[in-house]
Order: sequence, then C-alpha cells, then structure tokens
Amino acid sequence: MNRTDVAIVGTGPNGLAAGVVLARAGLRVALYERADTIGGGLRTAPLFDSGVLHDLCSAVHPMAAASPFFRAFGLAERGVELLQPEIAYAHPLDGGRAALAYRSLAETCAHLGADGPRWRRLMAPLVEHSDGIVGLIMNGQRRLPRDPAAALLLAARVAVHGTALGARYFRGEEAAALLAGVAAHAVGRLPSPAGGAVAVLLGHLAHGSGWPLPRGGSARIAEVLAADITAHGGVFHTGHEVTDLAQLDDARAVLLDTSPKGLLALAGDRLPRSYARGLARFRYGPGAAKVDFLVSEPIPWADPAVGRAGSVHLGGTRADIVRQETATARRIRTREPFVLVVDPAATDPGRALPGKRPVWAYAHVPNGDPTDPFELVRARIERYAPGFGDTVLAHRSVPAASYETYNPNYVGGDIGTGAMTLYQSIARPVPRLDPYRTPLPGVFLCSSATPPGPGVHGMSGYFAALSALRHCFGIRTAADVSLSPTPRQFSPAH
Ligand SMILES: Cc1cc2nc3c(=O)[nH]c(=O)nc-3n(C[C@H](O)[C@H](O)[C@H](O)COP(=O)(O)OP(=O)(O)OC[C@H]3O[C@@H](n4cnc5c(N)ncnc54)[C@H](O)[C@@H]3O)c2cc1C
Repeated sequence: MNRTDVAIVGTGPNGLAAGVVLARAGLRVALYERADTIGGGLRTAPLFDSGVLHDLCSAVHPMAAASPFFRAFGLAERGVELLQPEIAYAHPLDGGRAALAYRSLAETCAHLGADGPRWRRLMAPLVEHSDGIVGLIMNGQRRLPRDPAAALLLAARVAVHGTALGARYFRGEEAAALLAGVAAHAVGRLPSPAGGAVAVLLGHLAHGSGWPLPRGGSARIAEVLAADITAHGGVFHTGHEVTDLAQLDDARAVLLDTSPKGLLALAGDRLPRSYARGLARFRYGPGAAKVDFLVSEPIPWADPAVGRAGSVHLGGTRADIVRQETATARRIRTREPFVLVVDPAATDPGRALPGKRPVWAYAHVPNGDPTDPFELVRARIERYAPGFGDTVLAHRSVPAASYETYNPNYVGGDIGTGAMTLYQSIARPVPRLDPYRTPLPGVFLCSSATPPGPGVHGMSGYFAALSALRHCFGIRTAADVSLSPTPRQFSPAH
C-alpha cells in the first residue's frame, strides 16, 4: 500500500496552498474536507434555484492579488481573471454623499477636496514601497524587515491611524470615513494598532494591485489550486471529517487548516499542557452575520457612483465606525453595525441574469450572536439606497452563531479565526519561534489562526508547508519548490 507522506485537514485557501507546495515537492498528499465541496472560504454556489452564483464567504481579493504566494502561483496564467473595479471601495454618507477610493490615487485625491493632499501624503509613499509593506505584513513574522523604509512608513502611519491621533488627520468627514471603513476590516476595537495596520495595508493596495473580484466567483481560485494539486498526484477526500489525529497516524506530516479549538479537539490530551493552555486562551473576534440577497436590479444607491464600486462600506462617519466596532468587540449589539456590501455583477456583469443578480453583505456583530441579520442589513443598505428593499426577490441569512456549523474554523462567527489584537497579530496562535509547528512531532497548524492571519492569501499554508518540508522531509529552502505554471522560482520576500 502507498503510504501518505502528508495529510492536510481542511481545504480552505491555506490548506490548498500548503497542498500545492507539498505536492510540487514530490510528496504524496491527501487532503480531507468535512464539507461536500472543497474551498473553505472560497466557495461559490447558485442559491435560490435561480442559477445566479453567490460567494458564500469571501468575495473580494486584495490579499490574493498582493500575496507573494499567489503571485508566484500565477492566478492569471491559470485562467483566473481578477477583475478590477474602477472604484475599489465606496463609503456612502447621509445626504446622498459618498467618499470614493478609485484605483487611481490621483482621481481619489481629486475627489476628496481639501483632504486630497493628505490622502496622497498618506498613500503615495506606501504605494511606492508596496512590496516592502506587503512583505512586512504578509510574512511568517520570523525575519527582520527587508525594506527598512517600508517599516518606518508603516510604523509612522500606525502610530497615527492606529491611535486616537487619527481623528485629527483629515479635515472633512469623507476622507476620515473612507479610511475608517478600511480599518474596520480588522473586525475589532477601533482605533487600534491592528486597525491601523489593516488600513495601511488594504488602503494602499486599492491604489496598487487593487481589490479585484475573480470572474465567475471566488471558487475559481480554489478550483485552480485544486487542479494543480491533482496534477501533482494529490488526492481529495470530501465529506470526510477528521475527528482524531490518530486517524492520520499513517502520514509523516499532518497539516491542520483548523482553528486552535479544532486542533485541541483533534489532539485530545496528546498536547503538552502549556501549549494546550495557550490554545485554549486564544481569543476569537466579533462575528460576521451574512445575508445573501437575490435582487431584481442594481442597488439604487443615492449616489449612483457607489454602484461602480467593487466593495461598499456602510458605517457612517469615522466616529460612528469607532463607536460601532468598539461596542461590537465588547459584545454589545448595536442597532446600526458596520456592514460590507458587494454587488458582484457591477464588476463582473456575467454574474447577473435577466432580472436577477446577487448581493453579498455581512454585518459585524458580537461573537456568537444568534440574531437573524436580514432586517438589520436590509435597513442599513436602505438608508443609503432608498428603495433597495423593493428589489429583493429572495434572501438567505446566516447568523454569526450558525457560521461555526457551516465551517468550524469560524468560531462564534469569527471569520478571521482569531481576534486581530496587537498581541495576536504578533503571537498567533501562541508565542513560538515557529508558529506553524506544534509540539507534536510532524503536526503543523496552517490556518489563518497563524501569521499573517485572516484573508485569502495562502501565506499561512505556504509557510506551514515550508516548515513541514524542513522538519519532516529535509527540504530547507523555498527555492527547491517552484510554484509557477511557467518556470520561475518563488521567493516569499519577492
Ligand atoms: C462571510 C465571509 C466573507 C469573507 N470575505 C472575505 C473577502 O472578501 N476577502 C478575503 O480575503 N477574505 C474574506 N473572508 C475570510 C476568508 O474567507 C478566510 O480568512 C480564509 O478562507 C481562511 O482560510 P483558511 O484556509 O485558513 O480556512 P477556511 O477557509 O476557513 O477553511 C477551513 C476548511 O477546513 C475544513 N475543516 C475544518 N475542520 C475540519 C476537520 N476536522 N476535518 C475536515 N475538514 C475540516 C472546513 O470545512 C473548511 O473547509 C471572508 C470569510 C467569510 C466567512
């Protein structure tokens, strides 16, 4: 019988990225997925018997577009078309106003009035040092910065926009709200260093590699990763939940695309007590409560320019967002929480059928909140797009408390698999020199509970796979594994 070299539990973007690296290293890889389809946060499915495709989790991919792993893997060369909206994200405000982040930095600044020059001073140096910024944030947190200028730019900006000082940076409401909406992607208390870092990273990417949507939906990314694994001999077992590490004793290395809670459940009492205590102390963040809408026409935004944006942030002014996000992080339900909205067909017209189109939206709510978010999200959209409710043909709600049933990694609906606090940004999931390697010989954690954290970037899977190659198979350098469809080498420092 052929022995498996590597077993991977879970097929989210990180499990798949790990699978690509390990299968390409010539190892026999088996991937186990409890759901009937692979992909984790990269699933797209027709809902409401309408034939219209909805992204069940992730929809917009600034992290994938910037990720050193995906750049080396070559999504475009493999047929994944990353469509760039003209306006990366929009932020409607009361009175029919909206702040707009164009892909073009110059155009963004031109629309921000007196705050245009400030937005330029904030973003232009970051765009210039984008590789350095991405290398700093999307890393395994185990090496010194390769671009010291990027490190200084990042630190200076987090010192302002990750603290109360940020409130005084812009003069008008528009630019301040625009940046706060990006910081809210950290899903936690604001202002905070994590929020500042997220605002700097995602904010500047909008003017660089962009906030694209894959033509046809997020599952396209999972499909090409899976095709590469299969082409290199990897085998998938779907509808197969692994419930005990003992079931994988046959494999020389096991990579877990699970939460720390999942690792604890799988390992039972095999883990050293101090490490198990660290995992049990790992903090989960606020939850996401999602609504998928089937609508009859584009969202009737009060400012029609919002309809050209890939993503829309609904949170009101900077002060409103700070209040909402901080309350939600303290487990207080707010009547008007922060909501993200995507009308995929605005960027990818093929996602609409005559008289039917998908709308993707989720609200930040307290962890474990069981409330049906439909009314809350509908009302939030309606405030900036009067008449939206009349266009809704059907909807499907997923309360935060239900996300964990769908995917056990989203503990209490925390779609980041772990709160992005300053401590957990550095020591994720527990303080260790190699955060991917558990104390159990041959067992590695590769989910977004490890650095660099949430999002579809594949970097956690990539770094965990390198650690497994080094410790279990004696393969020491990334350069030994080429990821590209065309012959070129991958260097994570790019
Ligand atoms: C509603 C929502 C919207 C989002 N929007 C975006 C976005 O627009 N852009 C973005 O970049 N990110 C977004 N994210 C976050 C992104 O999806 C995640 O950060 C990412 O998917 C994490 O990848 P992962 O591989 O670590 O884990 P996951 O994608 O969560 O995959 C883990 C997989 O492991 C499986 N699994 C777990 N335990 C077991 C077991 N014991 N046995 C077998 N299988 C198991 C699960 O079923 C799952 O398929 C969103 C997430 C959600 C839920």
